[in-house]
This record gives sequence, C-alpha cells and structure tokens, in this order.
Amino acid sequence: MKGEKKKRIIKIIKIDVDKCTGCRACELICSAFHAAPRYSSNNPARSRIRVIHEPLRDIYIPVYAGDYAAAECTARDKYTIDGKEYEECAFCRASCPSREIFKEPDSGLPLKCDMCESDPPLIEPMCVQWCLDDALTYEEREEEGEEEEKIEEIEIGLESLANKHGWQKIMDIVARMSKKG
Ligand code: SF4
Ligand code: SF4
Repeated sequence: MKGEKKKRIIKIIKIDVDKCTGCRACELICSAFHAAPRYSSNNPARSRIRVIHEPLRDIYIPVYAGDYAAAECTARDKYTIDGKEYEECAFCRASCPSREIFKEPDSGLPLKCDMCESDPPLIEPMCVQWCLDDALTYEEREEEGEEEEKIEEIEIGLESLANKHGWQKIMDIVARMSKKG
C-alpha cells in the first residue's frame, strides 16, 4: 500500500568480492542469530546469506536472500566471470521452487535477509560484524520515499505454505490447533 512521502533509512550492505576469503563466518552467525531461541544452534543451511564458491579459481561470492518467489521464473540468469560459466541462477537472491537455497531445511519455508532487525537495533548486521576481512561493510542513508507496507515474515511463510498445500488445508490445521489451545 502506498502512503505519504516520508524520510526513511536505506540500509546497504556493500560486498567486496575481492576481499572474501570464503570463511563462511557470515553464514554461521546469521543462522545462529535467527535460531529460536537465539544462538541455540547454527546451521549454514538456515542462513540468509550464502557464499557461492568456485574452487578452481578460488572465488567466493556472498549472496543475500531476497524476496520469496511463488513460481519458477522462465527467464534465467547465467553469469560468466573470469571465463568461468556459473550454473543458472547461481547468484539469484530469490527463494523459489527451482532450488533448495534460501529455504528452511526442515519446513521448506522461505528465508529472507531481514538486516538483523531486532529490539534494541544492532549497530551493524551480524554478518558484517563477523566478517573480519571487511568483505562486508554497512552503510545507511536517509532518503525521501513513499512508506511501504511492511510484509511480516509470517505472512510470507503462510503464503508459501498455501501455495504448496492450498489455503483450505492451512485453515483446517489452524482450526484444529485452535480447538486444542
Ligand atoms: S564472513 Fe566475510 S570473508 Fe567470510 S565468507 Fe562471509 S563475506 Fe566472505
Ligand atoms: S544482515 Fe542479518 S539477516 Fe541478513 S544475511 Fe546478514 S546476518 Fe543474516
């Protein structure tokens, strides 16, 4: 929903691929920060940042989880970097039906980078704090723009479950659970 013009903070994580050593500390801390309870476990498969590795050339490319896409897209990206051709969608940020990346391994629910929003707010996102090689750095700037309605993670998760199982099944399960409660 569009609203009136307001000042808003744009959060930017800058990625310097040349500095990334592939240590994967960013994956580790992201998964631990988002574990429930916080820091109770770590599993890079649950991370909202993934480091794509090309072993022959020793290239590491951190990619952040972006928006959930309900359908597979029919136009694919294929990158060539330094003469090495990467597989289709290698650097795409979407959680989509085509591949397993950026999905909760157990539930299949989509993962998206939320910039480590927390209360109280962090000075810098966790992956930036843990990147000791400065491959990730953080910036904020103020911009004037329209206030966008924020979509909660739970809404995105419910939408993906409904796409998979149908709304009726979700409603039936919720009704059953609320009776138990
Ligand atoms: S923590 Fe930094 S250097 Fe290590 S893999 Fe992540 S981005 Fe690369
Ligand atoms: S900013 Fe936070 S949520 Fe996003 S990838 Fe980094 S640690 Fe994960």
